[in-house]
Amino acid sequence: MKMNDYAPIVGQSRIEELRHLATRLSGTVVQNINSTATGGGVAEILQRLIPLLHQLGVDARWSVIQGDDEFYAITKKFHNALHGNEEDVSEEEFGYFLSSQEQRFAEMELLGDIILVHDPQPVALIRRKEEKPRRWLWRCHIDVSNPDSRVWSFIRDFVIQYEAAVFSAPSFARQLPIPQYLMAPSIDPLSEKNRELPAADVEMVLSKYGIDPERPIITQISRFDRLKDPVGVIQAFEMVRKSMDCQLVLAGGGASDDPEAEDVLGEVRQRAADHRDIHILTIPTGSDLEINALQQGSTIVIQKSLREGFGLTVTEALWKAKPVVATAVGGIPLQIRNRFTGLLVHGVDGAAFALKQLLANPDYGRWLGQNGREHVRHNFLITRHLKDYLLVFLAIGRTGDIIHL
Ligand code: UDP
Repeated sequence: MKMNDYAPIVGQSRIEELRHLATRLSGTVVQNINSTATGGGVAEILQRLIPLLHQLGVDARWSVIQGDDEFYAITKKFHNALHGNEEDVSEEEFGYFLSSQEQRFAEMELLGDIILVHDPQPVALIRRKEEKPRRWLWRCHIDVSNPDSRVWSFIRDFVIQYEAAVFSAPSFARQLPIPQYLMAPSIDPLSEKNRELPAADVEMVLSKYGIDPERPIITQISRFDRLKDPVGVIQAFEMVRKSMDCQLVLAGGGASDDPEAEDVLGEVRQRAADHRDIHILTIPTGSDLEINALQQGSTIVIQKSLREGFGLTVTEALWKAKPVVATAVGGIPLQIRNRFTGLLVHGVDGAAFALKQLLANPDYGRWLGQNGREHVRHNFLITRHLKDYLLVFLAIGRTGDIIHL
């Protein structure tokens, strides 16, 4: 993808602006560090951002930390606890989180002038801060507005050693003695996941999975994770299906740093039993065209998360001009302005009501979808994200409080 290819979507002046900002960062090495190369929103974003930063002349790199099963089981607990779930984390687990990575972190090659650490898994790398003058940024993708206090206080001790923290939404920012930047995530409109597909491709994928293109399709795309509430989606669907014809698609894969997917998938399969209108699809990571086709082929997209970071699946669906029903958690309300760019709901009953409303009023759904697409065009495309990052890279090291980009 070339930078100029984005001009017809966001305007040539945006592209010029990016080029102009990037000249001041020419040769700067920015090293991203996270815990998975595939699966989940963080990997999704980095895969798209890094090549474009390169095109702009910023030497962006990406390193992935490795852990064993126990490490990932603990970091998943951290993830859930930071999202506000109750989790029982023992002193041994806190200890293992640090000790199991000690050697790996010590040996990790640090190349960046700017080290951009994503989420809690690699947060303790900051212990190497004194080695060499570098700028350290912590990028948090989790909604930490109401975290478990023990886990947050443990993570916070590391976070405050960074030069600055980046959060996805104003409501996620915490009281911290370091500057905080607010930056929403984004999608790439030209990626395999989001480009407009020919109708034949969409039909082919629907037919591959035995989904009837002639009947309404309600879809949730998500890792099989309890916080995405797939069982709640089935409950809402069953309420709708009693009176209206429709099919449900629950599609997802796993992420290499998420150990719970198998169990959740088992629960979901059991709950769906043999309902012939419920399609549970396990899709290997990287199947972007298939995910795109499922989103594009859907009548309605649902995202019934109990907690959410930002919810890229919502952004992807809005960009495809789909009516979206989603819970008002995490970053979702930034994307869905209720009854203007989609419908916000609070539980199973609310989700079922909203689904019925949209099935009964396709014109209303189309109107919401079109508004949603424009909202994403203006706020959540990768060109805006690039600009935010370039500005943060330029600004880092200066003092300040919360900086709105
Ligand atoms: N995704 C995917 N395949 C799947 C499930 C999800 O490609 O089976 C993608 C999805 O399209 C989105 C990202 O993974 O781009 C999930 O990001 P989101 O912010 O919605 O949730 P997270 O998984 O980070 O909690």
